[in-house]
Amino acid sequence: MKKTTGMDRAITKRWRPATQAVRGGTWRSEHGETSEALFLSSGYTYDDAQTVADRFAGEADGMTYSRLQNPTVAMLEERIALMEGAEACRAQASGMAAMTAALLCQLSAGDHVVGARAAFGSCRWLLDHLLPRFGIETSVIDSTDNAAWEAAIRPNTKVFFFETPANPTLDVVDLECVCGLARSKGITTVVDNAFATSALQRPLDFGADVVAYSATKLMDGQGRVLAGAVCGSQQFIDELLLPFQRNTGPNISPFNAWVVLKGLETLSLRALRQSENAVALGKAIEDRVPRMLHPGLASHPRHQMAVTQMVATGPIFAFDVGTREKAFALLDALELIDISNNIGDARSLMCHPASTTHAGMTADAREEMGVTEGLLRINVGLEDIEDLVDDMGQALEKAGF
Ligand SMILES: *Cc1c(COP(=O)(O)O)cnc(C)c1O
Repeated sequence: MKKTTGMDRAITKRWRPATQAVRGGTWRSEHGETSEALFLSSGYTYDDAQTVADRFAGEADGMTYSRLQNPTVAMLEERIALMEGAEACRAQASGMAAMTAALLCQLSAGDHVVGARAAFGSCRWLLDHLLPRFGIETSVIDSTDNAAWEAAIRPNTKVFFFETPANPTLDVVDLECVCGLARSKGITTVVDNAFATSALQRPLDFGADVVAYSATKLMDGQGRVLAGAVCGSQQFIDELLLPFQRNTGPNISPFNAWVVLKGLETLSLRALRQSENAVALGKAIEDRVPRMLHPGLASHPRHQMAVTQMVATGPIFAFDVGTREKAFALLDALELIDISNNIGDARSLMCHPASTTHAGMTADAREEMGVTEGLLRINVGLEDIEDLVDDMGQALEKAGF
């Protein structure tokens, strides 16, 4: 296979992000295809026995088995790493495979993790249930309280784990402060950047160590495949993540990797337009709903921080209509916007987190993290903003607002 400039860091590092998004990681075969090839192959063959022996000994480059390497997956990993400004990236089967690998690859019994209280339901499950089962202590805090991060540190604290903006309450974490604190104490920060992606926010630029992704969301962007990724230093990836991944196998299918690779070409365009639509829709309904949680609006407690550390505030916001009955009435009255718990899609999708994405938590835990019974979360898509405003307007009216 011919190595083109897309895999040559000396060249690709000089490219600006828009160029990296469409060309970074391109690794052409001898056929010279324009669009990246899909290598649906689990295994590889060798011209002679010494070649494979050298590859297994780590003395020669080349593929050996798709749990270890795959050309299509390698293209995705290189493109994500370039866009993120990371030394290295490894793709995973899903966002949760990425979060699990990013945490378990570096933690051992006796370690302590500080995590954000407001988080995707399964991320909270890792903190509340999985890690403690293996003797790893966890504390959950209000991630918007800078002093709470410092107060939660113990001598055995190894990792800070948070999302920003967080799912579904849109809590914004002070990246510079929290990552700086972690650095000064030798703690590794793992940032779940699914709501923003590198198109809108690059946590490594603020001192984060590891960025973990659900690529199912904005990166695919069209609601097709499950995918994930972990980005970090070459040392973190080679010494901690790779041994974990290669031996436990949370690998992405080459097909799914290919779909996401193509999605990345338009990521920035989609993320910016969807962010614009989200601000416009939020402004249009802000005065009609009892409580708005939208980092792109001045009413958000950390609006200024959000617009400073992000390029744009993303496609997702939430609002509270008071009760589950009113929330359901609003959802049921929608004609264009779909009822769906997915996010990052080019379609506008809306859901009731307390009965869906966060239904697995206790009512008390939901209440504590702000997932109230009247909370609705919306992913704003690429439709015409006037149609979205019209649909939301008529649904609010039918629900009595
Ligand atoms: C969706 C999501 C995940 C999980 O990703 P999957 O691809 O569904 O496994 C993790 N974190 C956040 C913030 C998410 O939105």
